[in-house]
Amino acid sequence: MHSDLQYLKTRANFIRFSYIEEMEKHLLAFESRLSSKNIKVRWMMEEAEMVDFICKSMPKANYNKICFDCPKIPDGFFEKKNFIKQISIDAFEKNNDSAENLVVQADFGIVETGSIIFINKNSKNCFNNLEKIFIILNINDLIIRQNDLETLLFLQKKVNKSFQSDDIKIISSPPSRIIAKKFQMSNEDNYTLEKIEAYVLLYDNGITEILEDNVLRETLYCINCKKCKEVCPVYRQTKEFSPIELVKYHCREENMRNIKLFENTTLCGNCNEVCPVQINFTQLIINQMQKFSKRSHLHEKNMDIFKVFFKRSKMNKVNSKMRRYFFIRKYFGKNKKLTNYFSGCKENFFNISQKERHQKL
Ligand code: SF4
Repeated sequence: MHSDLQYLKTRANFIRFSYIEEMEKHLLAFESRLSSKNIKVRWMMEEAEMVDFICKSMPKANYNKICFDCPKIPDGFFEKKNFIKQISIDAFEKNNDSAENLVVQADFGIVETGSIIFINKNSKNCFNNLEKIFIILNINDLIIRQNDLETLLFLQKKVNKSFQSDDIKIISSPPSRIIAKKFQMSNEDNYTLEKIEAYVLLYDNGITEILEDNVLRETLYCINCKKCKEVCPVYRQTKEFSPIELVKYHCREENMRNIKLFENTTLCGNCNEVCPVQINFTQLIINQMQKFSKRSHLHEKNMDIFKVFFKRSKMNKVNSKMRRYFFIRKYFGKNKKLTNYFSGCKENFFNISQKERHQKL
């Protein structure tokens, strides 16, 4: 069983590698497949640009009814209060309210077929009540072949069944909406189907910048399973950055002055073990730490912690209560959340228990 899992993870890593390494070529092929099926494609660099485009595409001068089914609603929409009326996803799903427009985040795009995959979306049964649908798809969330999807879904474990299950919706052409006919002859159907306007917004979201970095590029393999977050001892305590967020966004040049890297990792390696696409977080973080440690503006305290992390195998052996107390005070005294976390650790300093780790795998 373990070797099967290892095989699947290696396969998933290869699936992601194949796409990311030739992203541009595959994106262009995906775009042309969508366009041939009358799905309009727009390339978006930034969030503000995306909000602007969606608002300009809405038909009315004010109070366009819009529903969002995405993990985070772009902030820009909240400034357009007179222009849009937000319909809650619950009301939309239960048919208590209707929306003319939907903004929904897709989970995957499949290059080979030009299809878009939605997993566990509340709005999936309401697509045929809309006039316009705006599908946000991050440019790294594509895979080349449909066959590869099953492997990734199995590893994501967001769905337990096969990918025809109710949890998944696949669209390959604009959904149709049902229009009631006003007049009809007695033998005719009393409704017609009309294709709704569908836009796919290929969202850069800083991805092309990461792509240029040969080391950080590996972070684009992520399939958003959130397993690294669940096993991260620092995230559990601070609720600040999941391992992938930490590596992706806080290792970048422009964030270097507010660097959070040193305070938000213990280099325990739990995330490496659970990641279904085998992102090597520990190595990535150590690489970045080494890079930052050469910069002159780096605070001395960070350098100290950096050295400490390299001795982490020793740290796990600090078992006497007294030694542990002094150790924590010395190295983490100024960071209350981490102090609390380490003080509360009964067993090994950093590693989650074996049992817990196997549950996550
Ligand atoms: S474990 Fe983390 S980095 Fe790996 S795929 Fe899941 S969310 Fe992404």
